[in-house]
Amino acid sequence: MRRISIFGATGSIGVNTLDLIGRRPGEFRVVALTGGHNIDLLAAQARRFDAEIAVTAHSERLGDLRAALDGTGIAAAAGAQALLEAADRPADWIMSAIVGAAGLAPGLHALRHGTTLALANKESLVCAGPLLMAEAAAHGARILPVDSEHSAVFQALVGEDIAAVERVIITASGGAFRDWPLDRLARATVAEASSHPNWDMGQRITIDSASMFNKALELIETREFFGLAPEKIDTVVHPESLIHALVGFRDGALMAHVGAPDMRHAIGYALNWPERRDLPVARLDLAAVGAMTFRAPNPARYPALDLARQVMQARGLTGAVFNGAKERALDHFIAGRIGFLDMAAMVADVLDRLAGDPALTAAHSLDNVRHADHIARRAADDCLPVLAGQS
Ligand code: NDP
Ligand code: MG
Repeated sequence: MRRISIFGATGSIGVNTLDLIGRRPGEFRVVALTGGHNIDLLAAQARRFDAEIAVTAHSERLGDLRAALDGTGIAAAAGAQALLEAADRPADWIMSAIVGAAGLAPGLHALRHGTTLALANKESLVCAGPLLMAEAAAHGARILPVDSEHSAVFQALVGEDIAAVERVIITASGGAFRDWPLDRLARATVAEASSHPNWDMGQRITIDSASMFNKALELIETREFFGLAPEKIDTVVHPESLIHALVGFRDGALMAHVGAPDMRHAIGYALNWPERRDLPVARLDLAAVGAMTFRAPNPARYPALDLARQVMQARGLTGAVFNGAKERALDHFIAGRIGFLDMAAMVADVLDRLAGDPALTAAHSLDNVRHADHIARRAADDCLPVLAGQS
């Protein structure tokens, strides 16, 4: 039986992963399931899949988790160290689906054991791409992309030579506000930004889709995962979300990955890799689809994309700064302290403030990444009074 663990089991990706596992009884042994505040769901999942251990990231919730698992024989643990210990438990396949930079350390631990890491947590690659890749190489571990665009590129590259790749185009739905007049964006509310036209995802990534910070992270993720030069990586707005990415080769051929917007496709590909197995996803009826449309992203609507270009050029630990500032800006938006457009203004300001800081050119280590993340969050908070005063 394949031993698997899921980090971020209670989130959108985690639930979809368990949906696939649950359809194949007897094939998987669930080792560790981790969550955050949603103790009821975590305990229910641990019971249903008879996990060895359930871990909440929040130490103060340990009592609740223990109570919810009472009498089951399933171990309960809590806190950052417990997450790392869970990642140390022998497993064949680990899903990294914690949201945010918090997903980095458990993923690194898993790689150090040579475990195959199915990576939904794009923030890991944005913050510490070179570190993650070096750990994987040093321990013979494999990282499989779960982000739908990167899974699509990965699949288009099967049997191909990366040197023959001329360009990669990842598609963007354009998010909740793609057709809004620009002058209305400043007043967009959290509720409006939290509803996605095509995909059903966690709240944070849904808001990041509306602002295109998600696509910005994905451009950087593409660079880090596939080792492509930034000028070979582009994005196009494709409102139907049916083509997830395209790979262009030196002979002019463009290979597209087409499928219904259902994350179980990319999760299932990573779960079954290198095989293909049946997946419970809708089959596209192209005649019913009728047309697929594409348009260039408007830089005035999506300033996050230009910021991503800046980060891809700068490299070093700029990705960790970008992500840390973005996470903090998102916290402030969700809390109602700043407006929708202020998120990009805040991140741009942090990148400016910290440009030239020696922390950004430090070696790629977990401590240095954490430091860059920390100073970025602090700098974002420093911008708050000015931005909050304006909105
Ligand atoms: P969700 O917000 O739905 O779930 C996040 C998970 O992480 C939950 O289990 C949550 O626990 C847990 N969590 C939250 N904060 C922490 C923390 N500080 N430490 C440890 N665990 C924590 O997110 P998604 O499933 O949408 O996304 C997960 C990752 O996958 C993200 O990196 C996202 O960018 C990426 N991704 C998601 C896609 C999607 O379709 N959803 C598509 C492509 C990539 P709890 O809820 O119990 O508090
Ligand atoms: Mg994606």
